[in-house]
Amino acid sequence: MSLMCTTCGSPLSAAPDPALATVSCPKCLAALLTKINGALAGSTTRVAGVFPRKRATLPVGAYTATTVSVGGVTWAACRGQQDSNAARLVDATVAHRTFVGAPHAVAILQPPAGASKHDRGTDEYLRAYQAAAWHGCGVLFLREGAPAAEPAWQLPAPPVDHRRFLDALESDIRAALAAPESIPSDFLHSSTDAECIVRPIVHRLLFKRGYNRAESQYPSFWRRAATDGSWRIEGGDSPRRIALEVKLAEDIDWPLSQPVEALAAHDAVLMVRIVTPGVGKSLVGASPAAKEALTNLVSALPIRSIDFNSAV
Ligand SMILES: [Zn+2]
Repeated sequence: MSLMCTTCGSPLSAAPDPALATVSCPKCLAALLTKINGALAGSTTRVAGVFPRKRATLPVGAYTATTVSVGGVTWAACRGQQDSNAARLVDATVAHRTFVGAPHAVAILQPPAGASKHDRGTDEYLRAYQAAAWHGCGVLFLREGAPAAEPAWQLPAPPVDHRRFLDALESDIRAALAAPESIPSDFLHSSTDAECIVRPIVHRLLFKRGYNRAESQYPSFWRRAATDGSWRIEGGDSPRRIALEVKLAEDIDWPLSQPVEALAAHDAVLMVRIVTPGVGKSLVGASPAAKEALTNLVSALPIRSIDFNSAV
């Protein structure tokens, strides 16, 4: 028996996602994207890649946003160029979707204006990014491809969760940070200071597990991104490539884009935040929507967000 789209009747090559038939049917997806592109072209709504600390409005920025209804389902959409300093389209999209109360969202990344010194990113990287954005943030992510045609979006398989490996590693990282003298008094003034504490700890724990340091830079979409540490291992069932991101107070209001980007180039991402009294205040003031989005991200993907409370 051949499979058919229940909405438009066109033949399907695989069984549709029962929760969201639109994205399983190429014809319905094309119609959705046509509608979204039309609405974006006429939209004057501009949003920033940041979750609002106050609920009344979204901060204004460089991304164009819109909301459409298709078959009784509301879709939020956000489009903008890559910005090397603030590649935050995913945060902008989820913040806008939450703000308008839409269950689903589309993000469209545009090429930078003029010539870019960086490549647009490989198709393999794009597919990994789409899987992370879809399963971790509920965002259907597209890279705008002119002049070359882009591969059509397909429902991506979720990344391997590596749950047991990451549970043990997280517990070892917490224990090492809690050891006496692991954080020197009056040392933490910048996130570089935090990296100096966390990176050797993570290196020691991963080296014991057979990992070696790897190149921390990787090509993203029209930019080079860098982790605060990358490791690799050949063979075995553990994640082949692991990325580390170390934080103090930064990224609290845009928690999604960086781990999604890093996961597209790695198999697991560790985010370690050292929470000092000052950082703690910032965390308390963060948007509940940002916190919820981060919780959803880490529960769905091989990403750990480790907040470690430091007394010093
Ligand atoms: Zn259809």
